[in-house]
Amino acid sequence: MNMNDTANFISKETINMLSNISLDDVAERLGHTLRRSGNNYALFCPNPNHGFEKTPDTMISLSKGLFKCFGGGGCGCRGNNAISFYSWHTYGSAEKEYFKDSVIGLAEIYGIPVKFENGKVIKNDSVQIVPKQRAVMDEVPAQPDEICNKVYRRYLSLCPLLEDHVKEWRKRRKYSDSEIQAFGLRSVPTSVEQANQIVRTLLEEGYNLDRIPGFSKALKVNGDPANEDDWYWIIGMQGKYYLPVRNELGLIVRLRVATGRTDGKAKYVWFSSDPTSPDEIKNSTVYSRDRLRIGGAPSGAVINVTVPSKLLKLWKPGDELSHYFDTSVAIVTEGEHKSTITANYTNQLVFGLPGAGNYQDLIPLAKRMQIKKLAIAIDTDAFVDKTKKQGKNVIVFQHLQNMVTLCIKEDIEVVLWCWNPEDGKGLDDSLLNGVLPIEIDILTDDRKVISLPYIG
Ligand SMILES: [Zn+2]
Repeated sequence: MNMNDTANFISKETINMLSNISLDDVAERLGHTLRRSGNNYALFCPNPNHGFEKTPDTMISLSKGLFKCFGGGGCGCRGNNAISFYSWHTYGSAEKEYFKDSVIGLAEIYGIPVKFENGKVIKNDSVQIVPKQRAVMDEVPAQPDEICNKVYRRYLSLCPLLEDHVKEWRKRRKYSDSEIQAFGLRSVPTSVEQANQIVRTLLEEGYNLDRIPGFSKALKVNGDPANEDDWYWIIGMQGKYYLPVRNELGLIVRLRVATGRTDGKAKYVWFSSDPTSPDEIKNSTVYSRDRLRIGGAPSGAVINVTVPSKLLKLWKPGDELSHYFDTSVAIVTEGEHKSTITANYTNQLVFGLPGAGNYQDLIPLAKRMQIKKLAIAIDTDAFVDKTKKQGKNVIVFQHLQNMVTLCIKEDIEVVLWCWNPEDGKGLDDSLLNGVLPIEIDILTDDRKVISLPYIG
């Protein structure tokens, strides 16, 4: 390798920095008009050789960090970062031969320095634009459960307990005060000042917030990304209150946020540093174009291992649950409130899935905990939903079938818990109305009304 070859190598640092530019940011700066289309953006093909298009048929998926042309069956224009987008836009190709010029051209738009392995630097000094960062951060893992647990417990203890929320938990969810305390419900800080004060306290007490989902660092306005003092820790402030999510050792590993939305959209979201929804990005001051964020990690979708509140008070985080409790049977339902209410009423272990589709981790979890039997208690609309064309929620029904198949394959006994939709859509509603579900044995089709205490 001679000196001239080395001079051609662009540093990894520069390539990473450019690869992390959000695709919608570079597309707009290159003059493309983006239209929202579901969770994606649609635009006319950036490939200048594509030819005439009636409709914008190239898609940008921010959550996946991809773009792809579908116009007329697709012209081959596709890629997964801002460099390849620039290359397609400028050269009608993302072949290797255009890579170096694309890096330099893209960096020039933002005034980002291009550093070479031999120390040479090219920089457009006439602009300095801090690009929006791509939302995909799955390469950044969250801290181990023990560390998240410590931070979240202290964080929750510093968060307020608003009277309105306490009233709602008592009235609508019928929690006693000691159940509220055991669960660990807390309100989202009500002002930026309060949130900042809590973050300051955590830092003063020596907590490391790096890669704890929900916390991330933002760059001060006009701050220098290279100067560490220009970064400050922030938290997402959306939503009403937090619902702690525990793992099989009772560690609080994630927080769920009740949004208080009544428009049918996400009632619960994760406390996460991963801005996957374009809505969130567009409406938030935190994710605005002129601010970078670092240090965050996405929450993922974890299963909430839920036990009756009276046991929760005794369960020492880090201890195996089987030391306290019969864990041969677990009920499977969705959502944190539903799980807690079900656990309290049935005095059973409950696995709360974040959604009916998030069952991939269910069987491994059941195996680790040596569960012998799962009682699946998914919302009744899987079976009966008169608002749906097929008379039921087909997607949820499909998830249910998959779950059952996986259980049978893994030799875990599986039963369905069903109830009359008139007694409540969710198991919690039915239980709160004093109606116990019917248990259906999948293999024999035997049916019986559950009695309490439940004997699996
Ligand atoms: Zn195309």
